Formats: sequence, C-alpha cells, structure tokens
Amino acid sequence: MNTSASRVAKTILFWFSIVFLGLMLWKLSRANSAATHSDQNTDWTTIILNTAPLILLVGFCLLLMRQMGRNKAWSRNARSASRTGIGYDLHRLEAGRKLIVGGIELPFDKGPVGHSDGDVLAHAVCDALLGAAGLGDIGTHFPDTDPKWKGANSLIFLEHAKKLLAEKDFAIEHVDAVVITERPKLGPHFPKMREALARALGVPVEKIHLKAKTNEGVDAIGRGEAIAAHVVATISRP
Ligand SMILES: [Zn+2]
Repeated sequence: MNTSASRVAKTILFWFSIVFLGLMLWKLSRANSAATHSDQNTDWTTIILNTAPLILLVGFCLLLMRQMGRNKAWSRNARSASRTGIGYDLHRLEAGRKLIVGGIELPFDKGPVGHSDGDVLAHAVCDALLGAAGLGDIGTHFPDTDPKWKGANSLIFLEHAKKLLAEKDFAIEHVDAVVITERPKLGPHFPKMREALARALGVPVEKIHLKAKTNEGVDAIGRGEAIAAHVVATISRP
C-alpha cells in the first residue's frame, strides 16, 4: 500500500471509530437510563454487551494501523539500498595512437584501439556503475556502431552514467580500480586521473581509488599488446 492510500485509510478508520464510539456511548446512556428505571442488576450486563463490539473495533483498528506502519517501513527499506557493481575492460594497444587512461593523456608510443578514445579505465568504471544500478552496460547506452561516439572523450560516458544513477536516486559511494599494463608506469599519473574521474562523476576525489599492476610479462598484456582495467563501484540510495 502506498503512503497516500495508507493515510486515507487511517483517516477513514479514525473518523469511523469516532462516530462508532459516539453511537455506542449514546446507546449505552440510554440503556443505563432504562435500566435505572427497571432493574439495577442489568447494568453490568448492558455495559459489557454494549462495549464489547467497541473494544473489538478499537483493537482491530490499532492492529490495522500497526500493520500499515510495518508495510510503510518495509517499502522504505526495500527502496533503500547499497549496491555493488563490477566492471572490466580491455583494449589492444597499437603504435601511433593516443594513450588515454582515466581521462588523462599519457606520453607513450602506443594507444588503445577503440571506437571512442579507448579509455579502458573510464569504460570499466562506467560498466561498474551501470551494473550496480541495474542499468545495463556501456554498450547499451553508447553502442560502438553509433558514429556519434567515434573518438569521443570517454568521460562523457561517466557524466551520463552519473545522471542515470541520479535519476534513480543513487549516489556514488566509492570506486576502486585496478589498471593492468606493462608500460608505461601509471602511478605518477594517478592524482590527475582521480581528479578527472571525480570531476566527471561529481564526487570528491577521495571516493576514487586507483591501483596499477603489470602482468609480469605474461599474455597479451605482459607483452605490451593490451591494457585492461577491473573496477568495483559501490552506490547507495537512502
Ligand atoms: Zn572499452
């Protein structure tokens, strides 16, 4: 039952109880008056017979109102939530392309192959946030078949994800990411990346946490042929 329906039902029950109480008191006073003139021994029987329905009704009303309160609390709890989403992305690296990670261009001789700017970190963050809110993934909202997103700055995707979350009353609590690449070293660029991501998401920089790993020379990432990112995002709704 929604809040307004619950309020209307409570109001009806309240006034119904008042009217019923008035009628019962009126009937009771008449019964007492008649009994005074006839038989004093019927007083208690009359009182019990007349008040029993009233007591039952009041009890029923109290029970009903308590149940409504529980339903309201339940629906509030069902809406409030803390959710976690996971995001993963990988892009091949090719010579002569810009390397953009976390919205920041890094000096390097290779860059990601992708429809947009190929920002592996921004894409994984976007997927983690959309996943946490149950809103699909980055491909759902920004298909790589759409020429509009060719070469696009991936921070735009994050700004859009943030708006989608806000429409569902979700706030971003925390983003934790691991970026895996053999080269270049990412750590020195993390402060700028955190700032760029936090600005796009409209959150304090403290809510963005970044870590860097290499792949110890193993597989495509280890050979410097690719860059990947894993992200876990936590969102909440009051
Ligand atoms: Zn991507």
